[in-house]
Amino acid sequence: MKQRKVPLRKCVACQEMMPKRELIRVVKTPEDEILIDLKGKKSGRGAYLCGKVSCFKLAKKSRAFDRALKHTVSAEIYDQLEQDFIRVEDEFISSKEEMTDDEE
Ligand SMILES: [Zn+2]
Repeated sequence: MKQRKVPLRKCVACQEMMPKRELIRVVKTPEDEILIDLKGKKSGRGAYLCGKVSCFKLAKKSRAFDRALKHTVSAEIYDQLEQDFIRVEDEFISSKEEMTDDEE
């Protein structure tokens, strides 16, 4: 079987390289909003995180998004993102199964 080339991205929390589809993208929009971008299509500076709440907690603790997004992310935003993260996790896991490697 021929192996497809999978784009890799680094998780900002645990620093592991993972296939893009295994990661959740957090984006800073041109309006300076920090959002979870489940489809990976929003414009702006992105940071990638494993689709695991444990990694989100690690990122929150180390303020990894501040560094990755080169922007001060307030504690309220981290809290908001954490709630969104937990909410989208199921959707993320099920959408992964539909996704193909043909993207990009
Ligand atoms: Zn991670």
